[in-house]
Amino acid sequence: MDMHVHLDLYPNPLYVVEETSRRNTTTLCVTTSPRAWLATKTVLSKYNNIIIALGLHPEIASSKQKETQMILDNIVNSIFIGEIGIDGSSKYSFSFELQKSIFSKIVEKCACTGWHVMSIHSRNAVSSVLDILSNNITTNIPILHWFSGNKTQLTQAIDLGCFFSFGPAALINSNSRKLVSMIPLDRLLPESDGPFTVINQKMIMPWQAITICNYFANIHHCDIQYIHNQFIKNWDTILSKIK
Ligand SMILES: [Zn+2]
Repeated sequence: MDMHVHLDLYPNPLYVVEETSRRNTTTLCVTTSPRAWLATKTVLSKYNNIIIALGLHPEIASSKQKETQMILDNIVNSIFIGEIGIDGSSKYSFSFELQKSIFSKIVEKCACTGWHVMSIHSRNAVSSVLDILSNNITTNIPILHWFSGNKTQLTQAIDLGCFFSFGPAALINSNSRKLVSMIPLDRLLPESDGPFTVINQKMIMPWQAITICNYFANIHHCDIQYIHNQFIKNWDTILSKIK
């Protein structure tokens, strides 16, 4: 399983896609713009265990601003939405208001077009993301990807019904480790966030997302298979809502 990966951005995407489909039961491939979604969906349509999510990445909100209407128009055609969200880092502060406005529009549109599963980026912008989500939670199932908020924000997100996806790269950081240990097991999912994540100078591959089971088995004193089964159950819980 890998619930947040950019398959189209690996240097050798066709090999990675083939291997991912062979090794993973389910993969949620997020996209960075609605045009990329359309292209990726067309190329990968034969892989029935790879889901392509419709996205507009907050880091490129300003250069892709003109694709806002395209994403809004296509929400009705895609249950899975991502990568969307807000990045509050100083590097992207110039587009913060624009990011917020695009994210609000997407979430509002999703809330009035049936169930949607959304993979959400919230780096340095957790409170803005949670504010927007809480006003539009009805039929939206948010998965906060690589969540890095504080304990109060975590509680707020759990109360909202959010899921959380983490990968091996996140667990290198001791703050992230502290945070993930506070998340109920029935809200967690594995992700690679490849090809942007690296361990020992090697890109993390989509089939390595699941290795986080080791970490959770350790902190919850249970076996790896138990954690693996729990991740499958969590994904099934999400799918049961959208059916
Ligand atoms: Zn990502």
